[in-house]
Amino acid sequence: MRATVLHGIEDLKVEDWPEVELGSGEVRVRIAAGGICGSDLHYFRHYRMGNYPVLEPFVPGHEISGRIAEVGPGVSGLSEGDPVAINPSRPCGACDFCLNGRELLCTDMKFLGSSRRTPHVQGGFAETFVTEARQCVPVPGDLPLSVAAFAEPLSVALHAVNRAGPILGARVLVSGAGPIGCLVGMAARLSGAARVTIADVVDQTLERARLAGLDDVVNVSKGDGALVDASQSSGGFDVAFEASGAPTAVLSAIRTLKPGGTLVQVGTFVDPMVPVPTDLIMTKELRLLGSFRFDREFDWAVDYLSSGRIDVTPLLSHSFDIGDATEAFQIAGDRTQAMKVQITFS
Ligand SMILES: [Zn+2]
Ligand SMILES: [Zn+2]
Repeated sequence: MRATVLHGIEDLKVEDWPEVELGSGEVRVRIAAGGICGSDLHYFRHYRMGNYPVLEPFVPGHEISGRIAEVGPGVSGLSEGDPVAINPSRPCGACDFCLNGRELLCTDMKFLGSSRRTPHVQGGFAETFVTEARQCVPVPGDLPLSVAAFAEPLSVALHAVNRAGPILGARVLVSGAGPIGCLVGMAARLSGAARVTIADVVDQTLERARLAGLDDVVNVSKGDGALVDASQSSGGFDVAFEASGAPTAVLSAIRTLKPGGTLVQVGTFVDPMVPVPTDLIMTKELRLLGSFRFDREFDWAVDYLSSGRIDVTPLLSHSFDIGDATEAFQIAGDRTQAMKVQITFS
């Protein structure tokens, strides 16, 4: 079977990849769609993730969906042909965090398509993929598998909103109108936010955010003056989600939050050492929270997608066959064209 294998910076090859035997509790999934995430792009451009270089041929991809192709021994509840979304988190189930309902902080997490461990946990941009049955969440037969592949990024967004706490009636700022930022805005609306303002530096991506139903879009490429004005007319934002990874966005959020407001850090920075105005954090009594991946929100994401309560279709901008995977990654890196780019495998 074929997989997209990263061998170096911008060196992605579609090549034969060994089929592995199914172990107990495992299933083989024929992959249908895989969304390219910011972290996949980071691997493509830098051949590393933060402090974790890629040390061996590496298959990226963790936003994947498909159909069960083969069921291993000891698996119940899944049969050949079932459509599924694959949860890329594989926590150990035995550490203190796992035992206390905080699996995402697992000290022995295996997350698909990640170089944090060696040997690396290979990802799912491949024609078939073997995973534990517990990671496969069935989806309705009439749900397009391209939509099911949004379960992972949507669960990141749901987790970020969950971290903020109740936001019924809140005025919300989202910095960064990429797929995660847009999904955070949509999840905030679902959770009862009164108004969601989304800021970015690219008009095309803001236009998609508008199509996705977000209330106000602000281009901050020439500074955050318009954002400060918008926040002042309403007394400031109650909650800000930083999903751009731009240091200036952290500053804007801290400036435009109401006293007592909450900042949730979702985005990843290329250089994570970001100076912040600590005086404002102190005198406004802001809450600063981190949000990393997701826990049980994955199942909720599948439910919201299946019921249509969240419509992600305006965010799917491109779809490429596996044979054009390099082009898919190149387009995904061009924010004037792309929102969510997917690779299709069958
Ligand atoms: Zn992702
Ligand atoms: Zn654990």
